[in-house]
Amino acid sequence: MNIGNYICPICRDNPNSHSLKYLGNFNNSEFLYTRPSDAIRYDDRPGILAHYKGVFKTVIKIDNSNTNYNRWSWLFDARGFSWEHYLEMGVAIDLAKLINTPIYSNALDKIYIFRPPALLNMTLFIVYPFLSKSLQEKIVIIDEIPSFIPRNIKNSICINL
Ligand SMILES: [Zn+2]
Repeated sequence: MNIGNYICPICRDNPNSHSLKYLGNFNNSEFLYTRPSDAIRYDDRPGILAHYKGVFKTVIKIDNSNTNYNRWSWLFDARGFSWEHYLEMGVAIDLAKLINTPIYSNALDKIYIFRPPALLNMTLFIVYPFLSKSLQEKIVIIDEIPSFIPRNIKNSICINL
């Protein structure tokens, strides 16, 4: 299976139902991108979890012995994050628990949170107890997309940069 080619059955039938896609390898890390405000079904808790698990499987590619895997980073685009997303805290907790799984959190380089509105602090406050200390320390808030991400990729995910 090629990297990042997971097809979510819900997104196949209704594109943009969920938001998690593979961007490419930058800075020796496989980059995943999500923007909750792009997702139509941001409240689809089981579907979102299945989508994430499917993408992780094809991007992080942990072998059966849990020893070989790809390193990854998560670019969380918080622009447009609003009350309706905040209220789906079950989704945020599910994802926090999934990423906190030792193998996924060990393989993780960084979580970049791009331009978070103040409201996102409340979500982070809720999910932090589900994250190990080392995972919490991998979270960085950014106001610009990292310069090692190529311009064409930036253009594909971001407007007005
Ligand atoms: Zn999906």
